[in-house]
Amino acid sequence: MEKISKEGLEIFQFSNLSKFKEINHFISGRAGGFSKGPFKTLNTGFHVGDNDWTVFQNRKKLAHALKVNLEQFTFGNQTHSSNIAIIDSTKKGKGSTDFESSIPNTDGLVSKIPNIYLCVQLADCVPILMYDPVMHVVAAVHAGWKGTLRKIAEVAVKTMMHTFDSTPADIIVGIGPSNGPCCYEVEDDVKTEAERSLGNTSGIIKEHSNPGKYIFDQWNANFLQLRDCGIPEKNIEISGLCSQCHSDTFFSSRKDNGLTGRITAGIMLK
Ligand SMILES: [Zn+2]
Repeated sequence: MEKISKEGLEIFQFSNLSKFKEINHFISGRAGGFSKGPFKTLNTGFHVGDNDWTVFQNRKKLAHALKVNLEQFTFGNQTHSSNIAIIDSTKKGKGSTDFESSIPNTDGLVSKIPNIYLCVQLADCVPILMYDPVMHVVAAVHAGWKGTLRKIAEVAVKTMMHTFDSTPADIIVGIGPSNGPCCYEVEDDVKTEAERSLGNTSGIIKEHSNPGKYIFDQWNANFLQLRDCGIPEKNIEISGLCSQCHSDTFFSSRKDNGLTGRITAGIMLK
């Protein structure tokens, strides 16, 4: 993953996706925006208690730095589901200028229409961006522990296969900044849910030095889920950047006790 500074903002890009000139993608950092207090500074989330006008200005600044129009950003109203929306031209711009127009109950977006930025918002949850360079299909996924255990990454791949004839062996994936295995503590409820959902949690739920606590490796969980769909390991890049360790660079819900902003991850066919 590489960091690019643009107009005072920090934009992060995956090395593997950057090789494809027919797409654009980004993950925003928290520098260079207008928000104050717990949302400082580039909060892109309307729904977290920040001032709506300030969030609008932040998004406009981000769109300008990315050389797109704000109305190209397209957002779901994320509910930690495994629901994927197919984005056609009628859905372009949903959720871009207000929260209310976000696509309801949607945590993943898949499209092959150019000039629509598929966007997900995060603070510790895992952003997953995907591109099939053969069938020209893009996907953006929001996967926290619930979405990961509901296998939203797998559902996104299957949507790409069944709707747009993608072959998993062709798909290129970036797993972005989020709460890493250095920090992401969970308790028995998540461990039990993981065992119920995944069966084998080896390499995913790990021992912790404190009794009753475990480490949930969200990165490896999604890596294994995507590999088991047939995506070659070499096609999957994990940023390795932990949002909780780097809460000055990315928003971290855990670090800031739930009151914080949101970064955005987006991918678009040109
Ligand atoms: Zn960490």
